[in-house]
Amino acid sequence: MKIDFANLQLQYQKYKKEIDENIQKVLNRSNYIMGEEIYKLEEELSEFCEAKYAVACGSGTDALLLALLAIDIKPGDEVITTPFTFIATAETIALLRAKPVFVDIDEETYNIDASKIEEKITPSTKAIIPVSLYGQPSDMDEINEIAEKYGLTVIEDAAQSFGATYKGKRSCNLSKIGCTSFFPAKPLGCYGDGGAVFTSDEDLAVKMKQLRVHGQDRRYHHKYIGMGARLDTIQAAVLLAKLPHYEDEISLREKVASKYSENLKNTSVITPKIKNDRKSVWAQYSIRVKDRDNLQSFLKEKGIPTAVHYPMPLHLQECFEYLGYKEGDFPIAERVSKEIMSLPMNPFLKSEEIQYITDSIKSFL
Ligand SMILES: *Cc1c(COP(=O)(O)O)cnc(C)c1O
Repeated sequence: MKIDFANLQLQYQKYKKEIDENIQKVLNRSNYIMGEEIYKLEEELSEFCEAKYAVACGSGTDALLLALLAIDIKPGDEVITTPFTFIATAETIALLRAKPVFVDIDEETYNIDASKIEEKITPSTKAIIPVSLYGQPSDMDEINEIAEKYGLTVIEDAAQSFGATYKGKRSCNLSKIGCTSFFPAKPLGCYGDGGAVFTSDEDLAVKMKQLRVHGQDRRYHHKYIGMGARLDTIQAAVLLAKLPHYEDEISLREKVASKYSENLKNTSVITPKIKNDRKSVWAQYSIRVKDRDNLQSFLKEKGIPTAVHYPMPLHLQECFEYLGYKEGDFPIAERVSKEIMSLPMNPFLKSEEIQYITDSIKSFL
């Protein structure tokens, strides 16, 4: 058997007609930049998340930068986040010459440990960026409460969690600002780079829309130092075709995850834990095993691709050496990064494929 990790090709075949038609419309009109699809998409995205405003942009990384610029993050400011995430979360903070301040993760959810945030707050702290890792939101009530107490802004890095819920509310709408990514392999992906920022604060929304086009408040008049961070109209057209299918895809992902967990019950494999009050969109189905690297090679031989999200926590990355962290500073993130491993995950994985994957894992244990 040969398993496909994300199976983007099969997904395209399923929605080919709508996607091709939508792209063709853009080609026929040649409205490649800020075409009407962008505004339609923003409307549908904000409706989906129930945040008042959605600002479509060039990538999840752009979304984070737009959010940080919008709240005036300046050199020397501190922003609290998790070391167990994709580099973009902390990289965007550092690009603005602000300081990423890391807090260790919760051993069960792999998200930032909200109970360890308060001790890291200083007079320079301006914001907290919890990451909804693998598709599961963090303890947002606790985090929002701390932020309120100290006058900080919470920016949810929802790059992996568009569509997830926390106490019935959608990810991207769980704090002042939410940022997501439409990178092809994310739960809702386009066919290139793409992203969006969400807020219900009108002033912030207006500012982020201006920052997206070089800080321009009218043509060739630049109110802020901004970015070239627009989403391509063609990518909006792809997303408009895919969005109506997304709820169904989330349910299918949920089924795949349940089947994995069921099959791996009563083994030494640590399967993902989702808290009762939230729903993951399963950007990844990540397990923990002691002999990770050998298991990966073993599965590869059997035609089962796996991935590691993420092999090195950010405080140990070369680019952050200047922050002065060392091995041992965040023991949970460090341990998890050595044991974690993502299994193939997409809405179209068949029961037999899941069975083959989990049988193979069991035969290795
Ligand atoms: C993918 C990802 C990003 C960046 O998104 P891009 O669209 O690739 O720029 C940021 N944060 C997290 C947690 C991600 O997974």
